[in-house]
Amino acid sequence: MDAQPNAPEPAPAELLENAREAAEHSYSPYSGFKVGAALRLTNGQTVTGANVENVSYGLTICAERAALVRAVAQFGPDIRIAAVAVANLNGVASPPCGACRQVLAEFILPEAPVVFPAADGARTMPFSALLPLAFEMKLK
Ligand code: ZN
Repeated sequence: MDAQPNAPEPAPAELLENAREAAEHSYSPYSGFKVGAALRLTNGQTVTGANVENVSYGLTICAERAALVRAVAQFGPDIRIAAVAVANLNGVASPPCGACRQVLAEFILPEAPVVFPAADGARTMPFSALLPLAFEMKLK
């Protein structure tokens, strides 16, 4: 793959492997869709998460949000995310869903690379391209 100017630094292969390993811990008895996520924090730490399904479906938590809440619980509310990797064991495309993008926006650096399974293999995009207009609340 050729490097492109202005392309984000690729997430380390190690981070993608961390996401794959986390997917092994997925609780997905209803869909069988096993997803893992790995966050590289600006403090150098890596935190992983897996999707956790619920019989009511709507209460299911994605791997990305599972990793994020774990990171805050472990390192506190001042964390910043420098890179994200998402993987699944089903061999299908799975970019972060809209809900996860909005939740990540609270803590992620705008140009942080996000690598995820796409139809044509692993794809990396800067977070700002995944969610260019995140909801913000700036009251006067
Ligand atoms: Zn999600």
